[in-house]
Amino acid sequence: MNKNKILKEFIDRDFFELPKKSFDCLKYSFKFGWTDDRVEDPYPHLYICNKTSVYDKFLIGKTFKFNYLILKDEIVKQIYDGTLPKHKLKSLLNHIKILYDAFISIVIFPERNQTVFGDTGFISKNMTDFLLETKFDIRFFSLIGTYFSAPIWTNDFRKCTVSYRRQFEIKYNDAKNMSSEKFNDKVNEFMPSSASVYTKKVQLGMLSTKRAQNLETIVYCCPNCKKFFSIYSERNCIKCNNCQSAVELLENGDIILTKNVHNFDELNDFQYKELSKLKFTNKPIISYPTANLCTVFDNNSINIIGDVKLDIYQTKIQATKNDYNKTIEYHDVREIEFAPSNTLIIYLSDGNKIGFVGKNKENLYIISDLFKNFKEKTAL
Ligand SMILES: [Zn+2]
Repeated sequence: MNKNKILKEFIDRDFFELPKKSFDCLKYSFKFGWTDDRVEDPYPHLYICNKTSVYDKFLIGKTFKFNYLILKDEIVKQIYDGTLPKHKLKSLLNHIKILYDAFISIVIFPERNQTVFGDTGFISKNMTDFLLETKFDIRFFSLIGTYFSAPIWTNDFRKCTVSYRRQFEIKYNDAKNMSSEKFNDKVNEFMPSSASVYTKKVQLGMLSTKRAQNLETIVYCCPNCKKFFSIYSERNCIKCNNCQSAVELLENGDIILTKNVHNFDELNDFQYKELSKLKFTNKPIISYPTANLCTVFDNNSINIIGDVKLDIYQTKIQATKNDYNKTIEYHDVREIEFAPSNTLIIYLSDGNKIGFVGKNKENLYIISDLFKNFKEKTAL
């Protein structure tokens, strides 16, 4: 079978996707740093990339001269969690063998999610065991600059210069002699460590006059006076309506004019530390009158509930609307993920999912931190 036929056939199947070549990246002011230096690859590889923005998979196509397919996000998550049914996994590995024999490369973003502050997430052992089973040589690859082009906390695009970095390679012949644990360690060691650090190192800033816009959807604690939910954003600054301080977000992601934090990572650690100090109370930490809610059941049917009143407590979330009343206790939750466009996805232990979409400036990010804090405390 020829390559084009295989590519066409495989894109239509469950596992893979190929972003349209015609995707109009320029519309969003991406400037490419590799115009004369696109990656050629005579041999098929498995490309492992860190996930820094929703555009990575579109932009990566601009760097490759060879044929490749991207493993779908949904499948990546199921491999990561170990929830991909055995028969599907077997079928996926068969597909991969056909692609390998046809010299078609595969791109995988092996993290479960894009992280809020650009750090690379941990790659699970389920995922690295899978990588080993593909029998490909593995190349580590990162796109640089995309993180600030579309941070998870905004719908606004920023101009950015995108570049890439090819990093390490692990040959299958070396990897196959490693223990499962050792291979997992190696992959996590070789993954690009932080999108914001790379961005800074190569001086690719976020070129925008509204850099801090919507930042209050993830910053819930003032880095100056430590008051909760007092932050609002204005162009390049976050401001506090309690202490009246203004903190500017610089192009490289640093933060000036505060004694407590200097950059994104510190800001995140700082507010989490303050959250962990909160005394236990039966009252909601915050209530939102207008958050949007949809329920996704385990058969993937979606039920849109619409606008709900959302009360966020230290141990649970309550959503109410007329005769609809849903309480989500954190001990019934497996995982909470904060996704782009101010969306929160709650994975319940019974296999169901519930999604919240912030409509205005709701700080839904605090829910994932409250859940983390609850897990840490109840694990003691
Ligand atoms: Zn303040």
